[in-house]
Amino acid sequence: MQGFLHLLFPSICLQCGTDELSDSNILCDSCIQQLPYTDFFSIENNVVEKMFWGRISLGACGAALFFTKKSIVQILIFELKYKQNPKAGWLLGRLMGEALQKSNRFHHINGLVPVPLQKSRQRKRGYNQAQLLCEGIAAVCHWPLFKDAIQKKKTSSSQTHKDRLQRGGSATIQFTITHPETLYGLNLLVVDDVVTTGATMEALGNCLLMAQPASIGFAAAAYTLH
Ligand SMILES: [Zn+2]
Repeated sequence: MQGFLHLLFPSICLQCGTDELSDSNILCDSCIQQLPYTDFFSIENNVVEKMFWGRISLGACGAALFFTKKSIVQILIFELKYKQNPKAGWLLGRLMGEALQKSNRFHHINGLVPVPLQKSRQRKRGYNQAQLLCEGIAAVCHWPLFKDAIQKKKTSSSQTHKDRLQRGGSATIQFTITHPETLYGLNLLVVDDVVTTGATMEALGNCLLMAQPASIGFAAAAYTLH
């Protein structure tokens, strides 16, 4: 399996091209250190938290990295979402986990909820990128993962188009809770790859509230200005 993975994803740093990295990595240590970290997880009232003010009451929120166009972060997210490269998910997830662990604002968390994909899309893609991030976070923080607690409702293509036109409008993004009893009384952390307007999290958070968790926080791999 290792040899097979090496053929598919040769171990060369995506940023600087060095081959001095382990088979499980996608960036070398030096390039990992130079990523544009936000420190949001440690900062109260950071921009991600402010995004939800007046929309939904959430606990501590944040994102690990700044997302800018043509940056290594964009490449990592692209590898994660479209190139089926699990190493990108593990790296981003571990970086999120380390930042969350370093902050004292997330120590009460006892459940991870990946933002779900629509079933048909997940089948096509073969995996849910938010779940890969959760697995990386769990490897560091040892929080349990609730991957099937929520489902994304099917939307028609015209609705999807409408979503794109109405960025920020959460009315057409819909989720359903399949097992509310498993989330009752927990301190949940919802995990997504990129946060832009917060519309997805707002819709998902409103759905999660029906399960009466103790609190809902939010963590994204990257934050982008819209
Ligand atoms: Zn490098």
